[in-house]
Amino acid sequence: MSEYILQAKNLTKIYGLHSENEFEALHGIDFTVTSGEFICIMGPSGSGKSTFINNISTIDMPTSGWVRIHDIDIRTMSSHEIGKFRYQNLGFVFQDFNLLDTHTLFENIAMPLSLAHIDRTQIIQRVQAMAKQLNIEQLLNKYPYQCSGGQRQRAAIARALINQPQIIIADEPTGNLDSENSHELLMLLKKLNEDYQTTIIMVSHDPFIASYSSRLVYIKDGYIEQMIKRESLTQDEYFQKIVELNSAESRRHFQ
Ligand code: ADP
Repeated sequence: MSEYILQAKNLTKIYGLHSENEFEALHGIDFTVTSGEFICIMGPSGSGKSTFINNISTIDMPTSGWVRIHDIDIRTMSSHEIGKFRYQNLGFVFQDFNLLDTHTLFENIAMPLSLAHIDRTQIIQRVQAMAKQLNIEQLLNKYPYQCSGGQRQRAAIARALINQPQIIIADEPTGNLDSENSHELLMLLKKLNEDYQTTIIMVSHDPFIASYSSRLVYIKDGYIEQMIKRESLTQDEYFQKIVELNSAESRRHFQ
């Protein structure tokens, strides 16, 4: 059994393979994650952050190299197995929420449990308990378009967490939220990380949000260019280091 919850080796992603638009977005990245880490991925726009996070989390398949989650090579799974693996192990939080507009919040949140064929009584109990925790229990019969951005985001989080995943993948999760809701979401992620050792891999462009992580991974031009571990730094010291890294990188970009 590996000491890592997630491992990627020599990860390469080429879009438009063998076409005139062929573009290599990731160039042979090696990456490991230990259970309970809270990782923030930063980097300039177009550097490959979303491609990276999608390719390490079964959303997309790398062109070459391999990814193992819980020691299982995701390339060896059929699409049916990947679907099952996802709702058993991974929770996704996206910037645009990705809720289904034709389904109520209840149905949206229940989806991973329905897919796992959990029985109806248990589904109702678990959805209600999760909705209560996120303060949206009064909204379960509403449709996403009847809810505010913050409420929709909380429903998306409830859906991501309902199956108690060991890994949460979050791509700019606070991107569409005001500062109060961003703060709440961050506190929730931090709590899950601290109380349940849930592993979090999050993309953010905001150094303050990044300062809640335990490790910063800076991606540039399809490579991991730098990593900073928080270790014994205070959050403020860590934040300063992240700000310095970002401003040094943007200065280099404009020189
Ligand atoms: P980031 O998340 O850092 O903004 P992305 O991972 O979205 O970057 O994109 C990395 C690079 O890959 C960019 O140059 C982008 O234009 C390109 N890219 C992303 N998705 C596709 C795609 N589906 N087809 C072709 N090129 C893509």
